[in-house]
Amino acid sequence: MSAPGRPKGEYWGAQHEGTPMSRVPALRVVPPRVTLVGAGPGDPELLTVKAVRAIRSATVLLVDDLVSDAVLRYARRSARIVQVGKRGGCASTPQAFIEKLMAAEALKGERVVRLKGGDPFVFGRGGEEVEHLRALGIDVQVVNGITAGLAAVSSLGVPLTHRDHAHGVIFVTGHAKGQDARIDWPTLGAAAAQGLTLVIYMGVSQAAHLQEGLLQALGHATPVAVVQHASLPQQRHAVGTLGDLPGLIEREGLGSPAIIVVGDVLKGMASVSLVSGATRAA
Ligand code: SAH
Repeated sequence: MSAPGRPKGEYWGAQHEGTPMSRVPALRVVPPRVTLVGAGPGDPELLTVKAVRAIRSATVLLVDDLVSDAVLRYARRSARIVQVGKRGGCASTPQAFIEKLMAAEALKGERVVRLKGGDPFVFGRGGEEVEHLRALGIDVQVVNGITAGLAAVSSLGVPLTHRDHAHGVIFVTGHAKGQDARIDWPTLGAAAAQGLTLVIYMGVSQAAHLQEGLLQALGHATPVAVVQHASLPQQRHAVGTLGDLPGLIEREGLGSPAIIVVGDVLKGMASVSLVSGATRAA
């Protein structure tokens, strides 16, 4: 898989096109660059080929805590790996520090890869990091990853937009920034009642609150699923009803990181089935 030769456009040398070779400086300068790489939901086989290539060529990797260790097996032995995890509610590396470190390493000429769980631009502050780096004149490239919401629903064998039940999907966080950014769950419930599947990230700790809002527009019997550690050997999930969502989470001992799915696309699944990926894989 390793590509021989230099990736196209990697060096500023392109500006010397047409210059006699004798006048081209021997030392070409690598432009400062950071690559934001989506590490996918956990299973390393869900990485894109582009992601693997970027991880292999990195000399410095800044790694979120939702990135599974198995993904790091593609890193060079000599690479500097900095764990900068930040799990909701726990001690975390300040965002400003992460951004500073990325910029400093890129400006030193290191090949910096910022590994983020799922897709770099689905929640998880990828946008803020890009803005910061670009403001410093640092080139940023982004490599998509499979977002957890997609992996979670697929792992249930459920088509996210089965046309008998849904004509669209809403990815929403259960955990908005700041007090004024409260999420309007009744409106989202109304959207779900109109045939939009809800895929809720970071919602487990807010389950009672979002349930209350959604119930203003949806019936108690609306199917829900909670998928923890999607795509990993330790995946566990439970299927039930909106009226029982907090109870389901508590009884089954489900916690972060998890995706909550709400909508009729789940119809027909066993009412409660707690499945561990380890059992599936055995
Ligand atoms: N950029 C990430 C999301 C980051 S926000 C992505 O695209 O997937 C972090 C949230 O993602 C977690 O709180 C959880 O809701 C969800 N998540 C990430 N990995 C997960 C996994 N393997 N299984 C279930 N949920 C996951």
